[in-house]
Amino acid sequence: MENSIRVRFAPSPTGLLHVGNARTALFNFFFACKKGGTFILRLEDTDMERSSAEAEEAILNDLKWLGIDWDEGPGQPGERGPYRQSERLETYRRYAGELLKKGEAYRCYCTPEELEEKKKRSLARGIPPKYDGRCRNLSAEEERSFSAAGRPASLRFKVEARTVEFQDLVKGKVSFDGQGIGDFIILRSDGVASYNFAVVVDDALMEITQVIRGEDHLANTPRQLLLYKTLGFLPPQFAHLPLIVGPDRAPLSKRHGTTAVAHFREEGYLAEALVNYLALLGWSSEDAEEIFSLEKLIGKFSLGRVSRSSAIFNYEKLKWINRTHMKGLSGEKRLELAWPFLKKKGINVNNVDGSWLNTALETVGKEVDNLNQLADHLTVFFEDGWKMDPEAQDLLQKEEGRRVLKGLIDELGKVEEITPENYKLIIFSLAKRAGLSGRGLYMPLRAALTGKMRGPELEKVFVLLGKEKTLKRIEAALAQAE
Ligand code: GLU
Repeated sequence: MENSIRVRFAPSPTGLLHVGNARTALFNFFFACKKGGTFILRLEDTDMERSSAEAEEAILNDLKWLGIDWDEGPGQPGERGPYRQSERLETYRRYAGELLKKGEAYRCYCTPEELEEKKKRSLARGIPPKYDGRCRNLSAEEERSFSAAGRPASLRFKVEARTVEFQDLVKGKVSFDGQGIGDFIILRSDGVASYNFAVVVDDALMEITQVIRGEDHLANTPRQLLLYKTLGFLPPQFAHLPLIVGPDRAPLSKRHGTTAVAHFREEGYLAEALVNYLALLGWSSEDAEEIFSLEKLIGKFSLGRVSRSSAIFNYEKLKWINRTHMKGLSGEKRLELAWPFLKKKGINVNNVDGSWLNTALETVGKEVDNLNQLADHLTVFFEDGWKMDPEAQDLLQKEEGRRVLKGLIDELGKVEEITPENYKLIIFSLAKRAGLSGRGLYMPLRAALTGKMRGPELEKVFVLLGKEKTLKRIEAALAQAE
């Protein structure tokens, strides 16, 4: 029998994919993969003004980059499509029309200004705003006169509820006071369905079995459940994921730092590390393990281990997870991932010896947080990247610094090449010759060879540059510091 589990991720293509939405996508994807179900991607693009084709493309790219692919959705036709709400407007109108016919919905002629005014009045009196039902019982004559006056009509759903209760797969039993829910719009006066209406029609027709989404949608759920009932659809199960917040407990926003998946990618985070980190925002494995591949996450995931409390986005932890994934990369993969970052820094590695490059990447890879830094640190091995920081320059103006560099020229005269084997001896003799040790010895060397005060292990820098380049840099550094 075909597995009947069907879940969906339903982004609105109005901007870049936020990590919170990416986490929702991932949890749906893990759930579907683990259960052998179907994962559907649906674009909620009924807000024509804010939605764009570019945003849609960017979201699809980000999902693919994260390793998420969908069984049904844009580019993956299925029987229950189309998968863009803008292509389903007729369907929503048909269902809304039926509710109107059955007396479950009515035409509302209130203007946005009138509604705004009422809302303000309620707020001023400290009452939560709720539609007052002004148009609920209009006489045929009143309707005619509104219509004749050219007032556009929206359709409102009649809410007749005391309490709405449901069993959330994460939050447990949830209960809402139906009295607080006013008659709400299902079809706007321009004929476009509202979010709550379109989402119910779609989830029902697409036979979604579990709606897994952010807790910010919790307050929409009672409205949606009322619609399910009136439309005669069987509701799905709901799982509301805890909010992702910043250290100040406010919903994660740009104020806290990077929030878009695309920006994390540009900063040089690995997709697998970001996926790993996002999975830990509100979910944990029973053995408290924290480093996972995508496949492993699919195997381990369960909604039962999703927490009810908000998840704090911790940038430091993400860095640690990224470093850990970077350390686990094979040489080939590291190069493949670093390539675009090297290109961006203007480093051409086409004619560079493969094993040299591999060692160089491995060396700098040990101390960086991301691929951007990796490329940045690698630049020191290339001519174009050798630029003196002012701090390094200052250091080399000092007599001790110059003594170290001159001493190194003499020491290098004694060897054919710098190797991991003779490096210690070179340094040992240099220390004796210059009468310096520790930072006094190493910092001028680092400053001259890399132009910077921090960077990869000095021994590796020496060996990777080789004798010829090392001498060239020492001489150039001495000349610059004259
Ligand atoms: N389009 C909604 C959003 O981007 C998703 C709504 C839902 O999952 O029900 O937040």
